[in-house]
Amino acid sequence: MAKYDNNFVDELRARLSLVDVIGRRVPLVKKGQNYWGCCPFHNEKTPSFSVAEDKGFYHCFGCGAHGDIISFIMNTEHVEYPTAIQELADMAGLKVPEYKPKSPERVAAEDSYFDICEKAATEYQKLLFTPDGAVALEYIKKRGFTDDMIKKYRIGYAPKNNLIASKFVDVKQNNLLATGLVRRGEYGLYDFFRYKLMFPIFNPKGRVIAFSGRSLDGSEPKYINTTDTELFHKRMTIFGFNFARDEIYKKNRSIVVEGQIDAIQMQCNGFGETVAPLGTALTEDHIAILCKSNRNIIFCFDGDAAGQKAATRACSIVLPFIRDNSDVRFAFVTGGKDPDEVLKSGGRDAMNKIINDAVPLIDFLWKIANTNYLVSTPGGRVQAEKFLDTELKKITDKKLQYEIEQEYRKREFNEWRSWKKVDTPNIKLPDIDQVTKNSLVYIVNKFPNLSSQYAEFLSSLDISFDSDAPELGLDETAAEKFIVSLKLKKYLEKLENERKEKMVGMMNGENYTNEEIADINTKITEVNEKLEKLLYIE
Ligand SMILES: [Zn+2]
Repeated sequence: MAKYDNNFVDELRARLSLVDVIGRRVPLVKKGQNYWGCCPFHNEKTPSFSVAEDKGFYHCFGCGAHGDIISFIMNTEHVEYPTAIQELADMAGLKVPEYKPKSPERVAAEDSYFDICEKAATEYQKLLFTPDGAVALEYIKKRGFTDDMIKKYRIGYAPKNNLIASKFVDVKQNNLLATGLVRRGEYGLYDFFRYKLMFPIFNPKGRVIAFSGRSLDGSEPKYINTTDTELFHKRMTIFGFNFARDEIYKKNRSIVVEGQIDAIQMQCNGFGETVAPLGTALTEDHIAILCKSNRNIIFCFDGDAAGQKAATRACSIVLPFIRDNSDVRFAFVTGGKDPDEVLKSGGRDAMNKIINDAVPLIDFLWKIANTNYLVSTPGGRVQAEKFLDTELKKITDKKLQYEIEQEYRKREFNEWRSWKKVDTPNIKLPDIDQVTKNSLVYIVNKFPNLSSQYAEFLSSLDISFDSDAPELGLDETAAEKFIVSLKLKKYLEKLENERKEKMVGMMNGENYTNEEIADINTKITEVNEKLEKLLYIE
C-alpha cells in the first residue's frame, strides 16, 4: 500500500461528505442521526446499511461491512488505495501531493527540531520570572493572565541579547537554523526573537513547533511569528487547537477569534472551543482542520472595518465546507473592543450574548451583497446577484446550494426600503422621547431628500423642526432606517390597538372571529421581525 501524506488524506476526509460520496451509488435516507440505505455489499430489500457522517464511517448491520470514505471507494469500485485517493482528490478538486518517504536522517533531524523548540520554550519561560523578564511579566499580568495560565500556555520572555544562539552551542548549527529561532549574520548566528513576550505555538499533539513573539517596546509589527519551517506551516496551524480539540468535540462547535490573547482568554473563561489563526489570514486548511470535528463554526471578529473584511474572507472560505447540518455563524464585537476586553468588562455573560446574537452564514452573505454593492441601482443589483452566484457555486453540497438560491430568490435587495409603505395612523406621539425628537430634527435638517420623501409621516409627528439638534454620526441610509423603524413602531402600535379593540369587542359579544385576531397576531409578529432585521441588514 502506497503511503500518503496524512495531512492530505485528512484534508480529503474533511473536504468530502461521506454521505455525498456514498449517496452517488446508494440512495440514502436520513433517519435520526444517521443515513440509511440498502447495502451495496450484500443483497437486501430493507435498508440495514448506515452512514454516520459525523463519525466518518459506514456500517452494515446485515453483513458487517464497515469502513470509511476511502475503503468505500476501494470496495465498491474494486480499486487499490492510490486509485481511490486519486478519485477522491478529483471529487474534492485537490491535487494529490507527491509522497516522499522520510529518510532516517530526516527523522533524526525532525526529532532534533522538536527538541530545540521544546528546550527553547523552557528557557524562555524561565527568563520570564527573572528580573530581566519583569517588563514582559508585568505586561502579561496586566492582560489578566494568572500564573496558572502562564504555565499552561508556556508563555515566556526572549531577552534583548542572544539567548538561543549563545546557549544552544552544542546543537548542530543547521538544525538550529532550521527551527527559525536563529539566523546567520555577518558575525555568526543571532536570535530571531529578541525582547519579545513569547507564545509557543503547538501542533495538535501539543508539541512546540514555533513561536509567536509580541513586541515589548511598542515597535511594529506587534507580533512576529516563526517563518515557515519543516515543523511549522503557518497556513496549516491554528493557535490554541491542541487545547481546544476536546472541547470542540464536546460542545459540537468551534469559535474562531482574531488574536491569540483573545483565544487564550476565551479558553480560560468558559469558551474552551476557541482558536485563532496566526496573523489575520484564515486559510482553507484552517477550516479543514476544524471541520474534522464538526462543521459548526462561530466566527467572532472585531466590529471594525478590518474585522468586517476578515469575516467576509472567512465567509468565502468556509462555503465549500458547509453541509445541510452545518451551523456557521458570524458574531461581531462592537464598541471598539475585542473578546478579551468584553470578557474583562462584562464577563462570560456579555460574551455569551455576542455569541448568541451571531448571524447565520446565509444572512451574513446576503448582508455582504447588500453592503458591498449599490443595490439601490439596477446595475448594483446585477453586481450583487453575480457576486452571490459566484459565492454559492463554492458550496459543494449541490442540494444545499439549490435551497439557498431559492431562499435568496424570495428576498429583495434593500427590502427594508419597501417597509416604509406601512400604513401609519395619523395620531400624535405624546410619548416620543427627547432623544428620538433630536434625532428626527437632525435628520430633517441634514437630509432634505429624506424629509421630502417622508414629509407626510414627519409632519404628523408633534415636533417642531425649526429647533437645533446635536450632531449625530448618521449617514443617509442609517437615517432612513431610523425613520422606517419609527414608522414600523407606529404601525405596531396601531395593530396592538386594533387587537385590543377586537378582544374587548369579542368579550362584549360583538361579531369578531378568532381568525381575525390570529391574523392581527401574525402581522404583529411580522412587524417585530422586521424591526429586529432592520438592526443588522443593510
Ligand atoms: Zn451489507
